[in-house]
Amino acid sequence: MSELNSTATRVAIITGAARGIGAAVAKRLAQDGFAVGVLDLEEAAGKATVEAIEAAGGRALALGADVSDAEQVEAAVSRVAAELGAPTVLVNNAGVIRDNMLFKMTEVDWDVVMNVHLRGAFLMTRAVQQHMIDAKWGRIVNLSSTSALGNRGQANYATAKAGLQGFTKTLAIELGKFGVTANAIAPGFIQTEMTKATADRMGVAFEDFIAYAAKEIPVQRVGQPEDIAHLASFFVSEGAGFVSGQVVYAAGGPKA
Ligand code: NAD
Repeated sequence: MSELNSTATRVAIITGAARGIGAAVAKRLAQDGFAVGVLDLEEAAGKATVEAIEAAGGRALALGADVSDAEQVEAAVSRVAAELGAPTVLVNNAGVIRDNMLFKMTEVDWDVVMNVHLRGAFLMTRAVQQHMIDAKWGRIVNLSSTSALGNRGQANYATAKAGLQGFTKTLAIELGKFGVTANAIAPGFIQTEMTKATADRMGVAFEDFIAYAAKEIPVQRVGQPEDIAHLASFFVSEGAGFVSGQVVYAAGGPKA
């Protein structure tokens, strides 16, 4: 596993992989030849992703863990190491939104978002990094967002997504000498349950919400989870070893 051109199967863990972007990333990395740990809050929730991977001839394992809980994270990573092999690819994708204007934002809204995105990425990365260092090879991809640049009603989420960019750059600096890269993907509007929840909250039909958003996007469409999976596939690839500490905005145009 430590050889750059090793033909042994590498093992990836994708958090929040039961649906949406995480599920698409898990399926894509399985297609790319990785064995995949499909981590989500409930083990049962990851079953559909695992079945899709297995049906396509890949190898995957469903894991139930809350990324903001250190014990659950350690247990899930140990299980992956025991059942699939040492994980050397980590995609910190699990996420939640608790949108509100600042004056209405509760401490719980703030803490939940910080815990899942920031504490979650920290705990997962801390749990996996030793496997990467032992292998002298690793790839970390963190899901940021165009909201990192500021977004109305998302003081908590924008802060967390900007924080993940600083986390990514620091990982790149600390772990580079071990052959480990860390990069962030900052998606714009991607059609998932998360954006549907926003439409629901605003009382707008999801189709209308999508059509309205697409008009503002230079490529005239919203993103699909596979658009993000494609970029993740690049970042974790063998050939991307000289690309580290970067944030790529995948938003169908230059502006959020
Ligand atoms: P989604 O809501 O469809 O899926 C998120 C997944 O994360 C769910 O399966 C959920 O169960 C899981 N999850 C939530 N909390 C968790 C926890 N504590 N532990 C483990 N798993 C947990 O969301 P999505 O749209 O696929 O978003 C995926 C990531 O991309 C998130 O980090 C999100 O912030 C980011 N993102 C999404 C968009 C978008 O437009 N959809 C844009 C920019 C960034």
